[in-house]
Formats: sequence, C-alpha cells, structure tokens
Amino acid sequence: MAVNGYGTIGKRVADAVALQPDMELVGITKTRPSFEARHAQEKGYPLYVAGEGKPADFETLGLKVAGTLKDLFAKVDVVVDASPDKVGKENRRLYEAAGLRAVFQGGEKPEVADASFNALGNFAACRGKRMLRVVSCNTTGLARAAAVLDPNWGVDHWDATLIRRGADPAESKKGPINGILPNFQLPSHHGPDVRTIFPDLSISTTAVVVPTTLMHVHVNHVRLKRAPPGSEAVLEAFRRTPRFRLFAAWEHADGTPQVMEYARDRGLGFSDMMENVLWDAGLRLDGRDLYFFQAIHQESIVVPENIDAIRAIFERAPDGRSSIAMTDQALGLRPP
Ligand code: NAD
Repeated sequence: MAVNGYGTIGKRVADAVALQPDMELVGITKTRPSFEARHAQEKGYPLYVAGEGKPADFETLGLKVAGTLKDLFAKVDVVVDASPDKVGKENRRLYEAAGLRAVFQGGEKPEVADASFNALGNFAACRGKRMLRVVSCNTTGLARAAAVLDPNWGVDHWDATLIRRGADPAESKKGPINGILPNFQLPSHHGPDVRTIFPDLSISTTAVVVPTTLMHVHVNHVRLKRAPPGSEAVLEAFRRTPRFRLFAAWEHADGTPQVMEYARDRGLGFSDMMENVLWDAGLRLDGRDLYFFQAIHQESIVVPENIDAIRAIFERAPDGRSSIAMTDQALGLRPP
C-alpha cells in the first residue's frame, strides 16, 4: 500500500501500516522537500514525488527519490489518501485511472468514496467496497461512542457541543490564539456526518473553536430510550469496548494536558492518544438522561481506523472487532 499525502495524518498512517503483520508500506509521497521528507527517508520509507513536485528538487538536496506517483501506483493495490481537504477528491481520478482502491479522510465530502467508515460502527457494511472515507476525528469519536450506547440502550436524541482545538501543534498559521470562536453553522455538520455511519441516529451538534492544540472535548447529553441500571453500567460498557480509555478520579488526569502527558509517557509512535478518552467522574446518569465528556486527539484517532478500512476493502477480517484486535495489538494499544 501507499500513503499519498505525508502530513499530520499520513505520516502516522504510514507508521501504523509498517507495524501491521498483514500489510506492506511500499512508499510515501511528498510534494516538496521538508523535514518530514527527510525523516521519512531516515525511517527507510521509499519516497515518491506527488503533485507539482519534481524529483530533481529533492535529489539536489540529497534526498533519494524512488519515483513519481505513476511508478508508485504500479507497485501497490491501495492508496491511503491523506492530502489536504478537497485535494483527495482530485486525487480520486488518479486512483481510478490506475485501477487502485483507496481510503480517503474526513476532510473530503462523503461522495468521494463508496461509503464512510468507522470500525466499530459499520465495518460489515464496508467490506469489499473499493473506496472508503474514514470520517473526521470528531465524527470518529462520536461514532465510536454511538456504537456503545445505541446497541445497549438505544439513543432517543443526542446533543453534543464540540469544543474544538484551534490548530494542530505543528500549525503556526492557524488560530485563534485568544478568544472563543462560535461556529455559526447551527447545527454543525458533524451530526449529519455521524449519520453517514449511523443513518437513523438522532443527533445534533454545535461547535466552538478555542485556543488549544492538544485535543477536542465533546460535551454530550444523550437521552437514551431505555434507562441503564446505573452510571457504573454505562462506564463499564465504555471500558469493555476497544479504543476507549477511561481515567479514574485517583489518576488525577483532570483534563487534556494530563491526558496528553500520559500519551507522551506511554510513548506509542508519536505519543498519540488513539482512544476516545472519558473520565469516570465526567459521566452522570439521571434516568434516561446521560451526560458525559469525551476528549479526542485529533491527530491520531483516525489512524487505527485507516488500517481497519484497508482490511474492510480487502475483506481481510470477518468483522470489525477482529480487525480492531489485530490493528490494536500491532500498535500496542491496550485491549479492553
Ligand atoms: P496536512 O496538511 O498535515 O498534510 C497533508 C499533506 O499532503 C502535506 O504533507 C502536503 O504537503 C501534502 N499534499 C499537498 N498536496 C498534495 C497532493 N496533491 N498530493 C499528495 N500530497 C499532497 O493535513 P492533515 O491534517 O494530515 O489532513 C489530511 C486529511 O486528514 C484531511 O482530509 C483532514 O481533514 C483529515 N483529518 C485531519 C485531522 C487533523 O486534525 N489534522 C484529523 C482527522 C482528519
């Protein structure tokens, strides 16, 4: 397989693919020389030139180029496209022309692919499709939580407020650096995006952007159809599900700074937090009304989903849980 677009998401997907026992990373692409191109080379990932880039631009700087997109496409059967928002749509034509399967990211419209994908949510429906779109970081977090709550107690209606990070840590041209920016699209696009995975889910979302780079936080109010026996039953349902990490009060991980410190201490790959993060103390049940916070590490939550999407395309796992178990073991994520 190949990664086309080696930025925040692409470089993490490349590392994750390289760790999978049933996948081979044949190459990554860069459009211009950069520290990331150099680091990919240091890791031994063959470097191909995409977009407007020219091999000579790299070679004069001592970066070895394995070829162009055309050369790369001749060697692979699937591409993970992690190029910037809306560029994937243009790239799709290249993949089609080369007869390749592809996985796109959440910055593309749903129509870019045959289906939108979430491993816990709709793996079975996506098996055998040629083109899948892994939904965005926020949508992935909501879809994973829906995959826990809806089968257990039914969702009558879900209201979520998304407190979104202003930029990724490496982005120095985005903001805000002071202030809170309301998203005047009411409700926000995230609710309809969750319905690309769960078509019947009643969910409405609103969003604000705040000056932090660490994580997003979702403030959820879910009216369930059936009252759970107690909040411990809901916490346990989340704990028993892969790709959730719950922090107990005694751990003193009171917010996103401590959660990301844990991720750095754990030291997986990029010091990432690929799980939905919940706090035991941040969940409350009042009859059928469930309130909970969850934190989402925007840079990495979709990475294991990209791996599972590849397995769904090639029908290499019978169901989502089997693929998740393989992916997470290779990544070093703790099983539930
Ligand atoms: P990024 O800007 O960090 O990386 C994109 C990379 O693609 C860059 O290295 C860029 O040079 C390269 N590129 C530009 N044009 C290209 C082309 N024509 N062909 C190949 N490569 C090209 O972006 P990102 O944050 O990794 O986002 C990639 C996708 O993932 C987007 O759809 C985005 O919405 C989605 N996504 C991002 C996040 C996040 O928080 N960063 C989270 C989830 C999903």
